[in-house]
Amino acid sequence: MIKRRETRTVSIGNVKIGSGHPIAIQSMSKTDTSDIDSTIKEINGLETAGCEVVRIAVKDDKAVKAISEIKKNTKIPLVADIHFDHRLAIGAIKNGADKIRINPGNIRKPEDINKIIDAALDKGIPIRLGVNSGSLMEMYTSSGSSAEVMADSVEEYLTYFRNRKFNELVISLKSSEVAVTREAYRVMADRCDYPFHVGVTAAGLPEDGIIKSSIGIGSLLLDGIGDTIRVSLTGDPVKEVNIAKKILGAVGARKFGPEIISCPTCGRCQVDLISIVKDFEKKLQITNHESRITDKSLLIAIMGCEVNGPGEAKGADLGVAFGKDKGVIFNNGEIVKTVDEKNAVKELMGIIKNKE
Ligand code: SF4
Repeated sequence: MIKRRETRTVSIGNVKIGSGHPIAIQSMSKTDTSDIDSTIKEINGLETAGCEVVRIAVKDDKAVKAISEIKKNTKIPLVADIHFDHRLAIGAIKNGADKIRINPGNIRKPEDINKIIDAALDKGIPIRLGVNSGSLMEMYTSSGSSAEVMADSVEEYLTYFRNRKFNELVISLKSSEVAVTREAYRVMADRCDYPFHVGVTAAGLPEDGIIKSSIGIGSLLLDGIGDTIRVSLTGDPVKEVNIAKKILGAVGARKFGPEIISCPTCGRCQVDLISIVKDFEKKLQITNHESRITDKSLLIAIMGCEVNGPGEAKGADLGVAFGKDKGVIFNNGEIVKTVDEKNAVKELMGIIKNKE
């Protein structure tokens, strides 16, 4: 059981984040925000996949104007990502953004920051101070470890908000290096009680990005650090959401339906276990989609032989331990049946449907 770092609660639209609330999944639309139809379509697809907060890039006035129309046609809270120009932040807030993200590295003038704070106070929305290793303030680029430099830069920026008693804040400190990201969040965790949005930035194509995100986000979550997460992939954003769900499930923070454990197989295995597990996962996904058994957190073990099979299958909610051409099915720790290899998936699915 994860012991969460204690934080304030911050509301992003109707999603509350912080240690008293579930860790929320965030992603980012990859469309040009001024292409309203494409952006709405992508956001709604992300919501269907399980995204709970979505960020959009607001790079010009056309994107600012698009926000109100996008808001009308989507349900999940919208975060406007702002760089360089404080007027875009103010416009996004006025047009209905549920949160804005600003970068301490590129909006620097105190009078501009104060105008953003005024607008956020007026609409009652939070602000994320999101530092990235690639856009650190110049004054901080020459001394200290990268993690400390990132934390120092946020801390210095926080002064403007503390002076105004503005506490509806979320902090992020992302680096493309896993170890630096992890250390930066750990350093900052000792310095404030604002919720953290956690992720490894520019993590790369899915194969690399999934590994970096799983280690970076996962290790922080296990330390109790992280209130929203974003898996950053050079690829389909729906995949970012699916991987975020798997990370939350793997660390035991949230459950998103049945979890399959299966052995890697070896020379002792006498069935085509890989095909069986793939077939079972596919049928499970179809059934989930049709009847929403995704709400249940079943643990299902599919194991290749008698070495570890009976133990894992017995310990799961449902399991099968294969031998030669046959499998012994366990339900709630009890043996219920011995089935032929080719009937195993059908039998497991039948038991799952009866559990609904
Ligand atoms: Fe091999 Fe059996 Fe272990 Fe699977 S459970 S990896 S088949 S020893």
